[in-house]
Amino acid sequence: MTQQLTLAPPYPPEPGQPPEDEQGQRPDSVVDVAAATKAAAEFLAALGIRLDEDGLRDTPARMARAYAELFDPPPLRLTTFENAEGYDELVIARAIPFRTVCEHHLLPFSGVAHVGYLPAERILGLSKLARLVEHFAARPQTQERLTRQVAECLQERMLPRGAGVVLEAEHTCMTLRGVRATGATTVTSALLGSLRTDPRWRAEFFALAGVHA
Ligand code: ZN
Repeated sequence: MTQQLTLAPPYPPEPGQPPEDEQGQRPDSVVDVAAATKAAAEFLAALGIRLDEDGLRDTPARMARAYAELFDPPPLRLTTFENAEGYDELVIARAIPFRTVCEHHLLPFSGVAHVGYLPAERILGLSKLARLVEHFAARPQTQERLTRQVAECLQERMLPRGAGVVLEAEHTCMTLRGVRATGATTVTSALLGSLRTDPRWRAEFFALAGVHA
């Protein structure tokens, strides 16, 4: 039997995670909101946007906090369990929503991730597959790198027989500007171990992820 799960936020809070302050920032955050606010004001002024109108007065501070939130990864703790029952089929979390920012334009891209692995000695707490995506998405990214980082982290930390990740995303730098290819999605995949080398597992992974490879 293969186990298939669809996960959606909000995910349960991480045990031991430091509480946020009133700015929504964790005490261990490296983000300097005051400096970012000042820089945002200068950036907007340079674009000819006047900030002396009511609706815009606090925009630099809101911009700074919004980006701080996007680039502030919660600490990653991967809870694993002994695979006591010897479960040896794929475990896949489908359609995990994610959002990040492209490192070329600093414009958001978002979509869904399908993350799976073929267990060996250890199995993973199920919300952790979504946590992994969230963790690596919290920085300027390319879709290709994000896909690979999630797969490699899973492979390195869990030592499963294989790991696979598929990302389907819409990039606003492509849909709102440039070619304005509204509705175009980009699909990337990273397969490791048996999911890469064994055609049976490869095909089953893509079938369960709902991707026609
Ligand atoms: Zn871009």
